[in-house]
Amino acid sequence: MIMNSTKVAVVGSGISGAVCASNLARNGISVTLFESTRGPGGRMSQRREVAEDGKELLFDHGAPFFNANNTEVRGLVHEWEAKGLVACWREKFGCFDRVSNKFVDLEQEGLISKRYVGIPGMNSVCRALCHEPGVESKFGVSVGRLEWLEDENLWSLIGLDGQNLGQFKGVVAADKNVVSPRFTSVTGRPPPLDLSLVTELAVKLNDIPVRPCFALMIAFAEPLSSIPFKGFSIKNSEVLSWAHCDSSKPGRSTSSERWVLHSTMEYAQTIIAQTGLQKPSNATLTKVAEELFQELQSMGLNISQPLFKKAHRWYAIPLDFVDRGAAFPATSIAREEKCLWDKNKRLAICGDFCVSPDVEGAIVSGIAAASKLTDVLSCL
Ligand SMILES: Cc1cc2nc3c(=O)[nH]c(=O)nc-3n(C[C@H](O)[C@H](O)[C@H](O)COP(=O)(O)OP(=O)(O)OC[C@H]3O[C@@H](n4cnc5c(N)ncnc54)[C@H](O)[C@@H]3O)c2cc1C
Repeated sequence: MIMNSTKVAVVGSGISGAVCASNLARNGISVTLFESTRGPGGRMSQRREVAEDGKELLFDHGAPFFNANNTEVRGLVHEWEAKGLVACWREKFGCFDRVSNKFVDLEQEGLISKRYVGIPGMNSVCRALCHEPGVESKFGVSVGRLEWLEDENLWSLIGLDGQNLGQFKGVVAADKNVVSPRFTSVTGRPPPLDLSLVTELAVKLNDIPVRPCFALMIAFAEPLSSIPFKGFSIKNSEVLSWAHCDSSKPGRSTSSERWVLHSTMEYAQTIIAQTGLQKPSNATLTKVAEELFQELQSMGLNISQPLFKKAHRWYAIPLDFVDRGAAFPATSIAREEKCLWDKNKRLAICGDFCVSPDVEGAIVSGIAAASKLTDVLSCL
């Protein structure tokens, strides 16, 4: 067992960072986890909105569900299922063809992997892992710089506002953002990790494609009874690629019917070409919400007026979901090693982009990063 005074910093509370932090802590390593946003989950977040009548509306506006085909992931998922953190989403799914304006390809039972969802929201697992014994989580803290102190043989972390976040024997960067030029376009500063510190990893990290997507959260007072499925992909639409009924998931409130729609990547790229990479304005989000909703309405599904609608932009989704049962990896930069690793500096970089662009790939990568660090720290 490693002394629990051995400190490791994990940057990012998405599922890869959260799984990594929890595994490190279970191995006796004390972890401080930093997350820029107010809560855990990253692209497995749950969004809280309020309708005009004051009613709370919750939406899984990122990943709607995940699969567990990998043995290690399945082991973890069974543990989470036993704790009531996840459950199977047993509903019928299909595909809608925008040319014929008809549902096609009904999913055949038994051919598709089980779909898991967090309970009561997709962020439940990350939330639980970030609060396990041995993990100290700091939300709303953006890491602005990862500095390697050669003489001390330690990492020093500095916040975006220049505050000292502490010194650590090892670091896990659980988001490609720490090396991405996109960090600069959002913050106006250089990315936290200077790639000249880890030249061998730099080649792999240089060219990770990111794909944008808009999600539309909509709520209706009454169920959309003309739609025979609770989730469907949409083909031959220039605007929409996916729709699911969020309130049909287990453990959700059914006081309203809530749907989440995803735009096509091409639609999102067109909007970004017009408006830029910076945070979208309210006017842009309102226009996008209107256009995505109009596309749904024009599909001949007898859609009533919603009591709430709002768009959100995701701008880092390296994902080609041809069909939600089978994620097609757009890229993976460490398929064998599962994470990037610098043994001398005890730096691991993990996330979905290392293995496959889905929750399962992110979990596998987080497990690998924790294992590398545990091995090397146990020899110190
Ligand atoms: C719209 C959409 C639909 C999807 N559909 C599916 C699906 O059906 N099935 C599926 O399996 N997957 C799906 N995915 C993909 C899935 O959500 C991701 O693969 C997975 O959640 C990635 O986890 P991660 O930990 O690698 O990264 P993230 O979840 O992106 O986590 C990274 C975290 O790091 C934080 N961070 C970054 N930089 C810093 C910093 N400097 N300081 C502090 N914190 C920082 C970020 O705020 C973020 O919380 C979907 C994603 C989206 C957006």
